[in-house]
Order: sequence, then structure tokens, then C-alpha cells
Amino acid sequence: MNDRYGRNIDYLRISVTDRCNLRCRYCMPDGITLVSMKDILTYEEIELACRAAARAGISKLKITGGEPLVRFGCAELVGRLKKIPGIQQVTMTTNGVLLQQYLPRLLENGLDAVNISLDTLQPKRYQWITGKPELSSVLEAVRQAAAGLRVKINCVLLKGINDGEWQKFAEWTRQMPIDVRFIEMMPIGHGKDYGPVYNETLLENLKIQYPDLEKDDQIHGNGPAVYYKIKGAPGSIGFISAMHGKFCGSCNRLRLTSQGRLKPCLCYGEDIDLMQILRGGEEGALLEQRLEDAFCRAVSLKPRNHQFEVPDGVTEKKQMVQIGG
Ligand code: SAM
Ligand code: SF4
Repeated sequence: MNDRYGRNIDYLRISVTDRCNLRCRYCMPDGITLVSMKDILTYEEIELACRAAARAGISKLKITGGEPLVRFGCAELVGRLKKIPGIQQVTMTTNGVLLQQYLPRLLENGLDAVNISLDTLQPKRYQWITGKPELSSVLEAVRQAAAGLRVKINCVLLKGINDGEWQKFAEWTRQMPIDVRFIEMMPIGHGKDYGPVYNETLLENLKIQYPDLEKDDQIHGNGPAVYYKIKGAPGSIGFISAMHGKFCGSCNRLRLTSQGRLKPCLCYGEDIDLMQILRGGEEGALLEQRLEDAFCRAVSLKPRNHQFEVPDGVTEKKQMVQIGG
């Protein structure tokens, strides 16, 4: 479905929980106020919402969190969503800690691809950033997942902390058929406490280090990443430049939070309360129509641009962990 700026909105990110088994410093260092399960969309409600989304033109779904794999039954949700007419792709973003455990079930249920968030390859630094000593298990999960799925690594560089590791991440793409994407820190929640490492600078450094770096114009997924390849490498290096390279012109997405808020844009607090519609007492065709209308309205409310770079431009007060990235 096209929005008022002519963008085709075909992608929905669904956060299935606010809870997480890590405590990334820029995301939820002190945990979050726990929301009771009754205030979180049930899997049945998520499925109903996704059916309506599909009728409104959404064809690609991303399951995220919090950490999606801490919610019981998440792998089976993938299977349910895959069966919805019109849904062509279901993918997941995870920190990878529980991925080895759930990978067989995710594959059985038809997961199409996985993004694994990993900001450092050094054990001590991993523990410093995430609060847990899980690096070796995540690295093993990457290896196992890459044997059966498309794998992307999401890496957020923090100034003066892990920004010296970019070359190690780049080298990884020469060893395995994975995409490593550098995501600029966004000034949302605790992200405001850390200066962004600009992808522009990173790309300049990469070009110096790898003079044979070439643009990779293949389509890699649903997102705004721009890709490059070290000549002959099986994997690619992507840049998601939220701050510098405003990619709003090609934005294709809506976001659904675990508490049922449907968000037209990451930057602004405006949303539509799907939970209220889902639990408002209507049933059957009437409920289905209400939900579909809500998706169409969210598409029509999409703003032209975010304003992350403007002081006070961010009106979203939720943490990234409550939105799902
Ligand atoms: N727990 C899962 C994970 O870590 O992949 C899914 C949720 S997490 C909120 C999704 C992504 O958002 C992660 O890749 C994380 O690094 C990123 N993220 C969190 N806060 C951010 C911020 N302020 N700016 C940019 N990316 C952020
Ligand atoms: Fe958890 Fe993901 Fe946030 Fe880290 S970035 S605290 S893994 S939700």
C-alpha cells in the first residue's frame, strides 16, 4: 500500500516482548519495568493483526523484541505467520543467546532469515556492553545459523569503546557468507548517552584499508542498508546510516509494539492503539475490518522524515527495547 509520499509500505516489524536476557548499555542497562503478560498481545492477537496487515498490503514480517526468543512459543509463531495468505517472508532479529537452542524449531517453522545483533568480538568487551558472558555461544549460533539461513550481523559501534573493531567485522565477511551491517546509534532511550560513530567515516576507512571494496547492488533484505563487498568475499558489509544518510525516502515499514501500539515512524510518539481494537469486544468480519482500517490509517500517517538530528525532534518516549529497533 502506498503512503501519501508514494512509498510502498510492505514491511511490519513486530515486537513480541519487552523482556530481554541481556542488558546492553545503550538499550536497557537497568532492565525495564516489567509489563504483565495480560497487557502484552497474545500470539492469537498478533496473528489476527498480521492477517489484517497482509490484507492492507504488508508482505514481509520481522519478529523482534526485547529478545524474541525469551518468549515461549516464539518459533511456533513464525510457523503461524508464515501460513497467512499474502505473507511472503518472516524473519527475526535476535541477540543470538538462545539461538542454538531454538534454531532447529525456527528452521522447521520456515524462518526465512535471521539478524543477529553483535557489537564486539572480544569476550570482555561483550560482557561490558551486554552485561553477560555469552559471546562464545552467540558466535557458535552464528556459525550454525549460517549453515541453513541467510544471516546478517547487526553491529552498533560506540565511540571510544568498540569502534576499533570495524576491520575485524569486515574480515568476517571474507570468511563466511554473512552480511555485517554497521548501524549508527540513534538518539532513542539510552542511545542518547553514546556518541554515534558515523558510517561515512567508517566507509572512508574501509576504502583505504580495502582499495578493492566495491558497491554491492544486490537486494539483501527489507531495510535501508547500503552494501559493499571486499572483492572475492562471500559476505557483504552494510551501512544503516540512520543519522547521516537519511533514508526516509525509501522507508517501507510500520512497527507493532508488544503492547499493541502500531507506529508509523520510529522517531515520533504518535501511534494507533491496536490492543484497544483487538480487545474492544468486536468479533469476526467487523473486527477484521477495524484492524485492516487501522493499518491503512497507520500508513496514511507516516511522516515524510524522521528528525533524529534535531534537538527535541524525537517525540518518541519509549525505549528501543519497547519498540524493537
Ligand atoms: N534483542 C534483539 C536484538 O538485540 O537483536 C532485538 C531487539 S533490539 C532492540 C534490535 C536492534 O536494535 C539491535 O540490533 C540493537 O543493537 C539495536 N538498537 C538498540 N538501541 C539502539 C539505538 N539507540 N540505536 C541504534 N540501534 C539500537
Ligand atoms: Fe536486549 Fe537487544 Fe536491547 Fe541488547 S539490544 S538489551 S539484546 S533488546
